[in-house]
Amino acid sequence: MAERLTSDGAPRPSGAVIGRRDGPDSEPTLFLSNAEIADRLASLAQLLSAQKENPYKVKAYQRAAAKLRNMSESLHELVQDEADLTQYAGIGDAIASAIREIVQTGTLRKLETLRADATPAVASINAHPRLDPKRVQRIYKKLGISNVEELREKLDSGEVESALGLRLAQHVRQGLTETHAMLLYRADDLRVAVEEFLLGPCRAKRAAVVGEVRRRTEVVEELVFVIETDDFPAVVARLQRYGGRTPLVSSGKDNAVFALSSGVLLQIQLAGKDDWGLQMVACTGSKAHLKKLTAVTGPLSELKSSFVSEQAFYKRFDLQYIEPELREGYDEVERAVKNTLPTLVTAKDVRGELHAHSTSSDGSDSLEDMADAAHERGYEYIGISDHSQSLKIARGVSIDDLWTQIKYIEKLNGRLRGFRILKSSEVDILADGSLDYPDDLLRELDYTVCSIHSRFGLDRQQQTERLLHAMDNRYVNILGHATGRLLLKRPGYEIDIDRLIEQARKNGCYFEINSSPDRLDLSAENARKAKAAGVLIAITTDAHGTGELPLIRCGIDQARRAGLEKTSVLNCLPWEKLQPLFRR
Ligand SMILES: [Zn+2]
Ligand SMILES: [Zn+2]
Repeated sequence: MAERLTSDGAPRPSGAVIGRRDGPDSEPTLFLSNAEIADRLASLAQLLSAQKENPYKVKAYQRAAAKLRNMSESLHELVQDEADLTQYAGIGDAIASAIREIVQTGTLRKLETLRADATPAVASINAHPRLDPKRVQRIYKKLGISNVEELREKLDSGEVESALGLRLAQHVRQGLTETHAMLLYRADDLRVAVEEFLLGPCRAKRAAVVGEVRRRTEVVEELVFVIETDDFPAVVARLQRYGGRTPLVSSGKDNAVFALSSGVLLQIQLAGKDDWGLQMVACTGSKAHLKKLTAVTGPLSELKSSFVSEQAFYKRFDLQYIEPELREGYDEVERAVKNTLPTLVTAKDVRGELHAHSTSSDGSDSLEDMADAAHERGYEYIGISDHSQSLKIARGVSIDDLWTQIKYIEKLNGRLRGFRILKSSEVDILADGSLDYPDDLLRELDYTVCSIHSRFGLDRQQQTERLLHAMDNRYVNILGHATGRLLLKRPGYEIDIDRLIEQARKNGCYFEINSSPDRLDLSAENARKAKAAGVLIAITTDAHGTGELPLIRCGIDQARRAGLEKTSVLNCLPWEKLQPLFRR
């Protein structure tokens, strides 16, 4: 379809447009889009990494490349206008000068030198900037291969996975695939940039995000806006210059689709003042939702009346307002008819944090700083749940150190007023389902989060037994990131979630919705099942620093999609009510 949808493809200067952008008389210039500039920086980062260059420098180029892909202003134009690039977040002096060099010469001297010096094996993967050269070289060595074609074959035949493990295989698959999806959390940044562009340079009167982003689905493939404007063709024309150049995929009289350089599609739908509410309804719900809705309302395109707002629409059909997060086609339309929709949990209902790390294990802030930050957010408590002893890679806490930390927290709590630090641990569930600390230590904790961090490769039966066995231990309270999925990176390990939910109900244990934007584990679907079984859920951040506590909003989104009310959420309870729930 589009000229290019991938965000991380190879630099393709041949794909760039030779255009006469400054009038018929000026010299033709090689006009680079932001994505093409970002590709070059990503390639540079990859080659620097292969050279074992300072990892911070590598990261800085990678981060800058990601930022540039989301920018609405054209870097090429900014350079031509001699603008100060360092005023943009993520662009320092070194990166600004690299961008200027790319725009002025079409390439980077440093990149060309590194390419020339690269071993053939490294050079062959430079067309795939998301591949980590060190990991790929390890695979090459182990399998006795030397280029991407062979790598692809070995991946497809399963040899990469059997010889080097699931994780490496996933890394390769991701690096070789043109992805079109992005995390919701990233899409939110992009949404802000596009919205500003629509209301600013495009002169739309109104622009509202709908579709997946409004429903808060954890991974997004398409960014959709309903817009109001008197000049739709002008908006379409202007959007094609978003980020330097954004290819138009298709367009009609009231709808257009573009391929954003960051890999997702952008769709705009024209609405008038009169049918604004109707278009919002039509463009927000999933297909399954709209099918159920139109069974009640009749086909939306045939409605005679116009609706200035969604509220007016629902009122006309005697339906309760359906929150966007619920418009997925479960039971929400039926319940809207009966006026029995849940009152969804909000950020304001949350009273504390139950999964957070500190410098005692792999966190970046001290226990005291984490507590202060939680207190400042208006919370009543925070549980410090650092990793347990076996998880060496995350500096797991030894038995002695956890005893010391327990005493220390008790002393701190004696001094605190109106706030409490909870004694906790993220206890590893070992391969056989036993816990990583002895019972006499676990007994001293207020509660535990118990998680799997190893042996992802067990089959469904084994993994389920492992978790069921763990849940028989009376010191297991919250099952951490139950499926281990990492969105867009790896699927979760296979488990029988229904059996786990039943075990949790029987044994009095709970699940979490882990708010890390790439986990959001439990999924909305699994959380919905847990709720139906009456099993409470904690919405946690798994924060590894104070700056991650606000990510709770991602978990709240997910909980709302699952239809959770505050009565289904553990950390909407004050500690006095929560404490007895953790005693089995
Ligand atoms: Zn964990
Ligand atoms: Zn954790």
